[in-house]
Amino acid sequence: MKPRDRLRIAVQKSGRLSDASQDLLSRCGLRFRHSRDKLFCFGESLAIDLLLVRDDDIPGLIADGVCDLGIVGRNVLAEQECAAQLRGETPAFEELRSLGFGRCRLSIALPQELDYDGASSLDGLRIATTYPALTTQWLKSEGVDAKVVVLSGSVEIAPKLGTADAICDLVSTGATLQANQLREAIGILESEAVLAGSTTAPKGERGELMELLLRRIEGVIQVRESKLVLLHAPRASVDGIARLLPNGQRPTITSIEGSPDEVALQAVCHGTITWQHLEDMKRAGASAMLVLPVEKMLA
Ligand code: ATP
Ligand code: MG
Repeated sequence: MKPRDRLRIAVQKSGRLSDASQDLLSRCGLRFRHSRDKLFCFGESLAIDLLLVRDDDIPGLIADGVCDLGIVGRNVLAEQECAAQLRGETPAFEELRSLGFGRCRLSIALPQELDYDGASSLDGLRIATTYPALTTQWLKSEGVDAKVVVLSGSVEIAPKLGTADAICDLVSTGATLQANQLREAIGILESEAVLAGSTTAPKGERGELMELLLRRIEGVIQVRESKLVLLHAPRASVDGIARLLPNGQRPTITSIEGSPDEVALQAVCHGTITWQHLEDMKRAGASAMLVLPVEKMLA
């Protein structure tokens, strides 16, 4: 294979993760020119290109060195990792960091009329899934003797069709299960979109680009949940107020010209700042409180 000097990222072409994946990369300052076939996007702001593919192909593209990184559900990555292990192989891809969107769980669900009283309730059942490796591994770890029926889609209707007794499928709200008279019995994997990469990181220019991108992703994710809090407080109340700031970094304290007993306090906080937080700080002596969104952050 011809050596590449540009970094290449695989993302889902169209599906649940597509918009959020492209939004994350655009927040990292990446701009792309779309090709006519819309499968390859040339990076205009940095030497980072995009490949738009089906999510199932992403781990393989990383393993084969066609792409350096990919944005994919942990469920897909874990299934292919587990399948490789079951074949006695070591997967050449790994999860680098979670990205905080596309949250769901892989769960076993049963028809409403079947009771679930622990994993042994599944003994002797046929379980339909598109995640055979993860399902098989979980059943084995629980000592359950059940048959795994591999389907390529529409798993939720298998019990109604009589091709299986139960299913193991992705659940987010549970609405699909409910619509098919199924009940979630137990979750076997918590999932969200993750950044995946090769177990051997690229070197040279591509390696540097990858580090730059990882730092920017880190910043974008931190910013998403961060707020800048500004307030005034009597000097004596600063410690008490600082303790009330949710997940706050140590605040910066500055004096206010002409008010020797009062200071201005500024802190970046992670998580939600509720009205309750503000009212508690007011009771502790704070005034002139402002909560502002943070646009960019670089430590
Ligand atoms: P592709 O055509 O790329 O193969 P797909 O049909 O396999 O797409 P989607 O349904 O778009 O995949 O889901 C992509 C990912 O979104 C899943 O692998 C999972 O990580 C995540 N996801 C979040 N919530 C759900 C949900 N309720 N059902 C299915 N996937 C979900
Ligand atoms: Mg898929």
